[in-house]
Amino acid sequence: MQQSKTIFQLSRAGNRAAAFPKCDVPEQPLDKLFPYNQLAAASPPLPELSEVDVVRHYTRLADKNMSVDANFYPLGSCTMKYNPKRNERLAALSCFTGLHPNQPADTVQGQLRILYELQQMLAEISGLPAVSLQPAAGAHGELTSLLIAGKFLTEKFGVGKKTTVLIPDCAHGTNPASAAVAGFKTVEVKSTAAGQTDLDDLRSKLNDTVAVLMITNPNTLGLFEKNIKEICEMVHAVGGLVYNDGANMNAICGIVRPGDFGADMMHFNVHKTFSTPHGGGGPGAGPIAVKQELAPYLPIPLVGKTKGGKYVLTTDCPKTIGKVRTFAGSIGVLNRAYFYLRTLGAKGLKEMSENAVLNANYLLALLKDYIEVPAGERCMHEFVASANKLKTDKGITTMDIAKRLIDYGYHPPTIYFPLIVKEAIMIEPTETETKETLDTFAKTLIEILTEDQATLHDSPQTTKISRPNEVTAAKTPVLAEK
Ligand SMILES: *Cc1c(COP(=O)(O)O)cnc(C)c1O
Repeated sequence: MQQSKTIFQLSRAGNRAAAFPKCDVPEQPLDKLFPYNQLAAASPPLPELSEVDVVRHYTRLADKNMSVDANFYPLGSCTMKYNPKRNERLAALSCFTGLHPNQPADTVQGQLRILYELQQMLAEISGLPAVSLQPAAGAHGELTSLLIAGKFLTEKFGVGKKTTVLIPDCAHGTNPASAAVAGFKTVEVKSTAAGQTDLDDLRSKLNDTVAVLMITNPNTLGLFEKNIKEICEMVHAVGGLVYNDGANMNAICGIVRPGDFGADMMHFNVHKTFSTPHGGGGPGAGPIAVKQELAPYLPIPLVGKTKGGKYVLTTDCPKTIGKVRTFAGSIGVLNRAYFYLRTLGAKGLKEMSENAVLNANYLLALLKDYIEVPAGERCMHEFVASANKLKTDKGITTMDIAKRLIDYGYHPPTIYFPLIVKEAIMIEPTETETKETLDTFAKTLIEILTEDQATLHDSPQTTKISRPNEVTAAKTPVLAEK
């Protein structure tokens, strides 16, 4: 029987991974040498195990995971593409991992050059010239940008004038959350039946109090907002700013630029679009790009380059909103994004997006006769199917399909999101998957739809736990066997 004990339950006093030679100098208690060292005085209890038991424990845990390295992971909205190992190898080089964030800039010129060039690349991809690499995730990029917008708009229009953030009804939950944390009131904008922002509804909600429209383009239904230029003009006409949630950049890199279609600021999710690892709570990175007028408000430090070609960390920015993250950001993650971009180059990056869109449309074509896809003639890098009709006709729900896919070794797609589609199943294959993987996945999903209801309701059947109460499992998980 494979153990599911915690590493502490496996601990036996005296077990060790390594035996050190007997100490041949007098022992010095750490707290005497370093009286300020509180750690030594109250060291935490640590598990005691042999090396092989530690390795087996973590390998067993890793085996229980669904991961992009082991399973097709078509998680809509979150772009779970394969992370090339080359980038892991480069990021792990000791010339990067051995740096200390407090080292003087003179001694870390290579690392600063990487960050500087990454800023330039993101500016180029976004069409927005000023970049900060600091935010630690997409949601953090949203918050940082809204704080910048708040400060800029207050200086321009006065205190308490720009109070509202408009957010389409298909938006990611982080958008209204970030707006609320930044102190704005949020107002929802409706989508049309065709899955586009409803211009009439938008018009009715635009007024002088509007600070920002947060829009995701391509949107969360996997569709390009056809009226995006007009939408941006409408918001600008009332003195508002347009924020582009960049989580869906995988569909448009090298093809269209948010800055060109009218966005004033945006974030990148490098852990989605540029294949840095994600899941399990981080670390991630959510760099932001803004138009020139907003550049003075960016958080510090910024990575700059002097006329003499030296890379520097700039903190002399009188209008900055301040610091949003320790040091210069999630460097290990940003380095991976840099290596990814340098490996692909401009042409490769465009092909990345073209293939992401091609793969999604291929899968859509394979599936749409078997499961409804509202507004799904064509899609960008993802599409949103609906089990609503299957539920009425056959009693099969989105939850059943998602859970059954686990039995066949697939990570379920994103489900019940966006909220405006009933029984939503949001599928994003990404460009890293082969035609064979997509064919087999489609075949499996179509077969699942013909299985009997009882089998589906009882799935997954191959996992240790079948259907936990989702809320309890998230809020009070039981992580070990008693
Ligand atoms: C993932 C995502 C976010 C949030 O990004 P994090 O990096 O997870 O904080 C925001 N908007 C959309 C559309 C997303 O898919």
